[in-house]
Amino acid sequence: MAMNIKKGDTIVVLSGKDKGKQGKVLGTVPKSTKIVAEGINMVTCHVKPRRQGEEGGIVKREAAIAACKVQVVCPKCNKGTRIAHKIEGDKKIRVCKHCGAEL
Ligand SMILES: [Zn+2]
Repeated sequence: MAMNIKKGDTIVVLSGKDKGKQGKVLGTVPKSTKIVAEGINMVTCHVKPRRQGEEGGIVKREAAIAACKVQVVCPKCNKGTRIAHKIEGDKKIRVCKHCGAEL
């Protein structure tokens, strides 16, 4: 599966515990077709103290989520959309399926 989502995109989650939540893409994992987005799929990690006197604790961080569970949010119509492609000259650009805006 080709991944059309890029770092910096705003995505909306389609299913699971974060359904309906939006977040900015912080990174992608093309190998496993996953993305990491701000505030999405938060997991709790227990951190062990690395040095004596240092406190361990619980931190929350984003875990990768399957790219097929999210859609890019079109900045123009503000809807989650599948991505269409348009060829312009020798460039392939991503466009919104709803309104045709460039993504
Ligand atoms: Zn749109």
